[in-house]
Amino acid sequence: MSVAVIAGDGIGQEVVPVGIACVDAALAREGERIEWVDLPWGSDHYHRTGRMMPLDGLETLARHDAVFLGAVGMPDIPDTETLWGLLIPIRREFDQYVNLRPVKALAGVPSPVRGGDAIDVVIVRENTEGEYSEIGGRAFRHRDRESAIQVDLFTRYGIQRVARYAARLAASRGGTLTSATKSNGIIHTMPFWDEVVGEVVAEHEELRLDSVLIDALAARLVLRPASLDVVVASNLFGDILSDLAGAVAGSIGLAPSANLNPERAHPSLFEPVHGSAPDIAGQGVANPVGQIWTGAMMLEHLGFAAAATALQEAFEAVTADGVRTRDLGGTASTEEVGAAVVARL
Ligand code: ATP
Ligand code: MG
Repeated sequence: MSVAVIAGDGIGQEVVPVGIACVDAALAREGERIEWVDLPWGSDHYHRTGRMMPLDGLETLARHDAVFLGAVGMPDIPDTETLWGLLIPIRREFDQYVNLRPVKALAGVPSPVRGGDAIDVVIVRENTEGEYSEIGGRAFRHRDRESAIQVDLFTRYGIQRVARYAARLAASRGGTLTSATKSNGIIHTMPFWDEVVGEVVAEHEELRLDSVLIDALAARLVLRPASLDVVVASNLFGDILSDLAGAVAGSIGLAPSANLNPERAHPSLFEPVHGSAPDIAGQGVANPVGQIWTGAMMLEHLGFAAAATALQEAFEAVTADGVRTRDLGGTASTEEVGAAVVARL
């Protein structure tokens, strides 16, 4: 196995080495190892060349089994360069149609909402179509008649494949799949979403489907977070829900994510939810747990289930023991948290 590493910018440079050390320690227990190949892409590369990654970047990544990313982007580079120059081409080229974001409260991490410390949900966000389309434009470009049109595009194929992934996941967990909808207001695409998700769930006898309007679902995530298990949502709804769920769980520094090609026909990309956090970069205080957790998701996806479980248990125990960074009210450094997880393993 070989994994391409894009540590990237800001705290990415600090949390990625810690994530790698923890993944290596988890694999060593099982007598396994993976090869890591560093790719110096991101903002420095952009300043030198005008691109976030080389022209043949996608070909390079295609030679690896996965991509382990820290964070890319800095305040002096337009956000669109980061997104359209690196993350979106990777998602598209490798058909990473599932954006998976587990959100689970960790022992010892206070939640800002009542009942938030019992949250344990996985958000399955559609990652290729829906509301984030390039179809649209401006019309009537004069005076106050100027208009903008943005077309959402949902395909049966696109809904089906993300719903199938979510349904299998829900069947392996609590047996209920919650689907985010808005078919009362968005009367073409959302009823179609409901219909296709309904058909997929009907393929699983043991599975219960709970379709909930996105507004009510957002409220429920805050008021009764423990009542949700697996949530499947369109690109936009999934984006919003996963940030909200992350906030309910405590700190952005904890949240992991995976951009998956579930069939493993192409490499998947694993990155923590947080960005490069320039405000704290270089101080050794960044929370590495999001990156470590991301590493556990990568191990699971690559077929190292025992190592993934061991790593998950290790960082949860270390957090519960009070080895925590400043964002969680602790005093440990990034490296100290990593060393504690490695020692535990
Ligand atoms: P991006 O545009 O790349 O998503 P952002 O500006 O939205 O970046 P982050 O870089 O994630 O957001 O930072 C948001 C806030 O959270 C900052 O105050 C940052 O210091 C804090 N933060 C982010 N990640 C961590 C972490 N791993 N540990 C501690 N604090 C963090
Ligand atoms: Mg952000």
